[in-house]
Amino acid sequence: MCRDCVKEELPDRGNMCLENGSYLWNFESCKGCGKKEPIIIANRTEQEDEDEEELVTYKHLCTICGHVIAEHTYTFRVDDEYQEYSMTCLLCGKGSDHKRIDIEGSMPNGVC
Ligand SMILES: [Zn+2]
Ligand SMILES: [Zn+2]
Ligand SMILES: [Zn+2]
Repeated sequence: MCRDCVKEELPDRGNMCLENGSYLWNFESCKGCGKKEPIIIANRTEQEDEDEEELVTYKHLCTICGHVIAEHTYTFRVDDEYQEYSMTCLLCGKGSDHKRIDIEGSMPNGVC
């Protein structure tokens, strides 16, 4: 993880929370090879703990030399009537959001 590849460290993204992808606007160029090529996502993991908090992590890597540009963390949890999201990443920035759970709208098809 290094700050030389990004324009701005941990930019404030308000209520934006990504669980996949890269915030390319904030990518300056790779410090390892000096190129500005599309970023690859690697080592993506998803885990859920007993409190039903979901944790997603992955790395942003340079396509050319494999330099690690940033490590991305995304969490999701359900708290009674709210769903809470948060994101922390040197490249994508930090953000958090919550949504009220709409019981009818969230009912999966085919259940009942
Ligand atoms: Zn770097
Ligand atoms: Zn590179
Ligand atoms: Zn990221």
